Amino acid sequence: MSDCIFCKIINNEIPSPRVYEDDNVIVIRDINPHAPTHLLAIPKKHYPAIHDVPQEESALFGQLLNACRATIREQNIEDKGYRLVINSGLDAGQTIDHIHMHILSGRKFSSGLA
Ligand code: 5GP
Ligand code: ZN
Repeated sequence: MSDCIFCKIINNEIPSPRVYEDDNVIVIRDINPHAPTHLLAIPKKHYPAIHDVPQEESALFGQLLNACRATIREQNIEDKGYRLVINSGLDAGQTIDHIHMHILSGRKFSSGLA
């Protein structure tokens, strides 16, 4: 998508250092971190939200979590813990309409999901 910030980062039109990259996913640091470690795992294919991914593209879900797993291990955050978040739509606060998983770590998170 030509006007999508994350597509521009993926295509190197906007420079953004990779914490992790493989054939299907990039992981970058969030520009406005909400935790000492705040990363964004972003599939290279543009879909606005999870529910937009067609059945035949379901491999994307495994690829996204595999990239999170690799990143979590490389960042050594598996023992202290981390939170994975996908926001979707206005009520959830999604601001960029390209699927991305927040990887948050380095502080305590509330036990609730509010
Ligand atoms: P959302 O609110 O859609 O769940 O998450 C979007 C995230 O992208 C926000 O946490 C925001 O700080 C981050 N973000 C927005 N623009 C950029 C950017 O140009 N570079 C990086 N690294 N993060 C960005
Ligand atoms: Zn995009």
